[in-house]
Amino acid sequence: MAETFKNFIGGEWTDAASGKRFENRNPANRDELVGTHPDSDAGDIERAVAAAAKAFRSWRLVPAPKRAELLYRTGELLAQHKEDLAQLMTREMGKVLAETRGDVQEGIDTAFYAAGEGRRMYGETTNAEMPNKFAMSIRLPIGVCGLITPWNFPMAIPTWKMFPALVCGNAVVLKPASDTPATAARLVGILAEAGFPPGTVNLVTGGGGRVGTPLVEHSSVRLVSFTGSSEVGRAIAATCGQKLKLCSLELGGKNAQIVMDDADLDLAVDGALWGAFGTTGQRCTATSRIILHEAIAATFTERLVARARKLRVGDGLEPGSEVGPLVNEGQRESVHGYVEIGKKEGAKLLMGGKPATGGALDRGWFYEPTVFGGVTPSMCIAQEEIFGPVVSLITVKSFEEAIQVANGTPYGLSSSIYTRDVNRAHVAIRDIEAGITYVNGPTIGAEVHLPFGGVKDTGNGHRESGKQVLDVFSEWKSVYVDYSGRLQKAQIDEVKIQ
Ligand code: NAP
Repeated sequence: MAETFKNFIGGEWTDAASGKRFENRNPANRDELVGTHPDSDAGDIERAVAAAAKAFRSWRLVPAPKRAELLYRTGELLAQHKEDLAQLMTREMGKVLAETRGDVQEGIDTAFYAAGEGRRMYGETTNAEMPNKFAMSIRLPIGVCGLITPWNFPMAIPTWKMFPALVCGNAVVLKPASDTPATAARLVGILAEAGFPPGTVNLVTGGGGRVGTPLVEHSSVRLVSFTGSSEVGRAIAATCGQKLKLCSLELGGKNAQIVMDDADLDLAVDGALWGAFGTTGQRCTATSRIILHEAIAATFTERLVARARKLRVGDGLEPGSEVGPLVNEGQRESVHGYVEIGKKEGAKLLMGGKPATGGALDRGWFYEPTVFGGVTPSMCIAQEEIFGPVVSLITVKSFEEAIQVANGTPYGLSSSIYTRDVNRAHVAIRDIEAGITYVNGPTIGAEVHLPFGGVKDTGNGHRESGKQVLDVFSEWKSVYVDYSGRLQKAQIDEVKIQ
């Protein structure tokens, strides 16, 4: 049954002022309408930002351990609703149930982890250079935060942003991806049920241009936290630069798994299958390139293709499905476009390369798991993010060449090396240009208590998750308390040692 979802502004569920709505359909079965959502515009953003600015005035004064109690409650509610949230998420974006359950679990983990910060959120005390003077630094909230999120992790990514933002004392306006607004609406409903005061959490749905842009441009939004494509990220960064807003960006990836001649090949194949085809390849950390030492390239390729042929493509709600659909028609066209480019570039299509069809698959945006062999590092399919179930195999002659190829794209999010040589593993950890390196594991599988993010074109130096995310959602203030009773001039007065 299709549901009618609303925006959440100042503690009230509300339609877009224009009354317009947009549809959210199941990518595994386009006949199924999951729901309709407000097709909002700048006026709705204006109301949401005003509500957030008003709420911020009192929320910032609530002690952080009290703010955290609401996050503990949120974590409990998410755990209670884990199964129905996962089902809804599979229906709106397609990934298989095991993975949508994992996505909700990441939200639960983030709730408890961020709640713990309510009783930490440490500042520092240090020595002052003048006598009878005390020095410390403390964290303070920033204000209204505009949060813009993609569709591939409809629960995890909004929670990575909202929960630390809220525990730090900010008020938020969330604009979720238009492909996954239902999970976002449920999440916001749970935050309201947990007791977050009206206006601290606001949700406005609608398109990137009509809703995202006014949110980024709004003068009362002090911080924009964005996860999505590099193209949109660049435009947002430009606006934030112009307006001197804080801006945190988590962008694309072109992640490589290196497999050395001494690797456990079955383990490496397990990792490659999960990394390349999990979430139908629609992860920012998906394994998109596999760099093979020439000594094992043929054996690895044979085993990978044999295993990939057995993957079951199907509706994520069906038990046994391992690879769900792509999120929408445009995404399938884009993936297929890259496959055509790969063929033209001279890469060898070893399997897949076309939409998966037949029976129930005809109703969705399914695509066959696809493997290209004979890929060279400069080919477009080895350079650009494809965001689909397509993996490129690149053969190299040495460890040094493997690292060089791994580093040879503009991105730097995740990476992996399979080797039994501890020395090589440590050189890889040091030399691969990426925010994450796995040793003997696939490129996917981040945990919420470690910093998440990338180098080069993957972002602008910030990290989500871990304690490092507090640096995104709080400002440092340095405090000097002079109890000498006289004017003391730092760097100028001479302090005599008696
Ligand atoms: P996208 O097209 O950049 O969209 C991301 C979000 O930005 C959506 O909410 C979108 O709204 C909104 N948006 C679009 N144009 C905008 C504009 N001009 N101003 C403000 N907001 C705008 O990316 P996507 O296709 O959803 O997600 C896939 C990308 O995200 C991939 O590149 C992937 O690597 C990246 N990603 C990165 C990470 C990471 O942590 N590094 C994690 C996950 C995904 P609409 O949906 O309404 O268009």
